[in-house]
Amino acid sequence: MPEGLEAEIWRRAAQPLVGRTIVDGWADDRVAPDGLLDEIVGATVGAVRRIGKVLLLDLTVGSGSDDGRAVGLHFGMTGRLVVDGRAPIDRLVYASGRDDPVWDRFVLRTDPAGADGSTAALRMNDPRRLGHISIDADLTGRGVDLFDVTASDLATALVRRRIALKTALLDQHVIAGLGNLLVDEMLWHAGLDPRRPANTLSAEERARFAATLRRRLPIMLRRGGSTSGDLSPAIRGELPPCSRDGEPLRRDTIAARTTVWCPHHQR
Ligand SMILES: [Zn+2]
Repeated sequence: MPEGLEAEIWRRAAQPLVGRTIVDGWADDRVAPDGLLDEIVGATVGAVRRIGKVLLLDLTVGSGSDDGRAVGLHFGMTGRLVVDGRAPIDRLVYASGRDDPVWDRFVLRTDPAGADGSTAALRMNDPRRLGHISIDADLTGRGVDLFDVTASDLATALVRRRIALKTALLDQHVIAGLGNLLVDEMLWHAGLDPRRPANTLSAEERARFAATLRRRLPIMLRRGGSTSGDLSPAIRGELPPCSRDGEPLRRDTIAARTTVWCPHHQR
């Protein structure tokens, strides 16, 4: 499913929309607020931002005063973004690679149009329809962004929590943007047992986890997202020996999510 890395790839790909005016569009009313289009047609895209896994289009109306609206794209399990007819991520592992317009949930046409005037400027395509569109959603409670996590953020977030480390790291109020694949990947690299109570991490272990995020996330961003790690979906399916130490990998349910980890080096 799309995680913070996918949303970041889409944020970068959607920058050409900045400065364009929304002239028309369509939204699937099963996943979008009533009257959404009426509220945003005529507005100009002032910025494209990301908060955790959520992509935000900041819209300005008229003079561009601060009464603008923010449209949020929440990608759910299988949502993907197409900008000016191009999909920055062709294929999500848990979704079909087909780009069927029947799965479009949100479509915007803009002035100026994109390079090819016949295609919509933005389409959110979502076969399973588990994503949704929000307007002016309150995202203030989100935790620190996955790219900005420090050891001290982790101390604040984890020190009083007895829940499993993996559960805490998946909580978007702790770190915004980590999902199931990234949490497993980062714990594997940092050598931390996902089942450990979050408050049992030492200062050294918290620093190691923060350093792992800083080092690994840019690499995975370049490689194409959260499925590009050492615990890729193929590895998670086949469970070969751990590539670090040759011991068996395990697949368990932790935090109600399928979890792949190495009991030998993750302590
Ligand atoms: Zn191992």
